[in-house]
Amino acid sequence: VSTFLALGAAPSAWTQAATPEQLVARALADNRAHAMLSELLAVAPKRLAGSPGMDRARAWAVATMQAVGLQKVRVEEVQVPRWVRGEVASLRASLPDGERGYDVVALGGSIGTPADGISADVLEVKSFEELRARATEAKGKIVFFNRAMPRALRNTFLAYRDAVPQRGQGAIEASKVGAVAAIVRSMTTALDDYPHTGALHYEANVGKIPAAAISTNGAQALAAALASDPSLRLTLRLDCATHEDVACGNVVGEITGAERPDEIVLCGAHLDAWDIGDGAHDDGAGVVHCLEAARLLLVHKVRPARTLRFVLFANEENGLRGGRGYAAAHEGEMARHVAAFETDSGGFEPKGFSTTLDEKARAALVSHLDPLRALGFGALIEGGGGADISVLQPFGVPLFGLVVADHRYFDFHHSARDTLDAVHERELALGAAAVAAFMAVLADPAALPEK
Ligand SMILES: [Zn+2]
Repeated sequence: VSTFLALGAAPSAWTQAATPEQLVARALADNRAHAMLSELLAVAPKRLAGSPGMDRARAWAVATMQAVGLQKVRVEEVQVPRWVRGEVASLRASLPDGERGYDVVALGGSIGTPADGISADVLEVKSFEELRARATEAKGKIVFFNRAMPRALRNTFLAYRDAVPQRGQGAIEASKVGAVAAIVRSMTTALDDYPHTGALHYEANVGKIPAAAISTNGAQALAAALASDPSLRLTLRLDCATHEDVACGNVVGEITGAERPDEIVLCGAHLDAWDIGDGAHDDGAGVVHCLEAARLLLVHKVRPARTLRFVLFANEENGLRGGRGYAAAHEGEMARHVAAFETDSGGFEPKGFSTTLDEKARAALVSHLDPLRALGFGALIEGGGGADISVLQPFGVPLFGLVVADHRYFDFHHSARDTLDAVHERELALGAAAVAAFMAVLADPAALPEK
């Protein structure tokens, strides 16, 4: 068998025409990843699940999968929530010297306010512990969650994880102590005027209250205003709303395995995106990583031993119905999923991969990554994959994610700044080549044995 996959780990085992170096050279020379991203963002700049833009994105993804030569291209239907942002998002403070407005956006899934808004006093807190300790002060107020993403952490995803519970759970915790609305400091270490959206959750038996994200500069200014006048009142106005679920779908295509077609390596990203930017990094970059990786493997006539299944999920941002729907539809195949990979960390320079594999399996796989390491993206660290594939973990499927140079990711993530110009074409191309090379490795039974 002439593929590098069947022959194992040594760099010399990669065929002349399909070494990781060749994949990188082709990705950089053709520059197709950036062209694809540009197309997607032109066709569907706004593509929240359940929106008309998402329907256009799905049609584009089907056509692009067919154009690059994937097999069995199809849409697997799932029902998704339809949340509509509306036109109004404003937060105003009455100050002694007049009114002041702040840059805010509704958090995804939030209920709206009455048309004339919700006006109340403010309780600023930095944590849920502080909120509970001051529960008696919260009743009837707007809770202002002003916990900053910690700057000291080198990995910005860990910094995100530290602060993001106030966005996801803040409305629940504030409601439990009698608050009427929540304002959440945006999830970024940058100090600027761009509010960052993201999903919030509600809980059965806890009253729903509206919630909005405030820019980091806005949060600093509001905190300063509160320090000089703790009795200042805020008025929040939002006209967002949730409607009936609608049909949407995951877009799926395959490269059938040459030797073990029944064994599946899933390569995924999410096609949906938040609606205040264009989702260029999150997760347009991941989408084109997958599509360009498929094209690179096919152009170089790589014949993976296992089936590579490319899945563009429908609803990562506000419901996870794409991932859940995939797991439900393919439950009978779960034992044959030997790996699931999702790229959802932005289109930055690739550094390597994260995995849930235990130490022993990780050590075995690492020895097959030498040619990738030589190109700068061979690291293998402990960690998960994206949210969509997290639902496969209970089935025992090992998860993998793309690790990138992440320092700028949260400058853009879920904000109006997440646009095409934020993505560098060479970094994006390198990411696609890294994904292609890594998929080739995961499809090789010598590198990753069956579970
Ligand atoms: Zn994402």
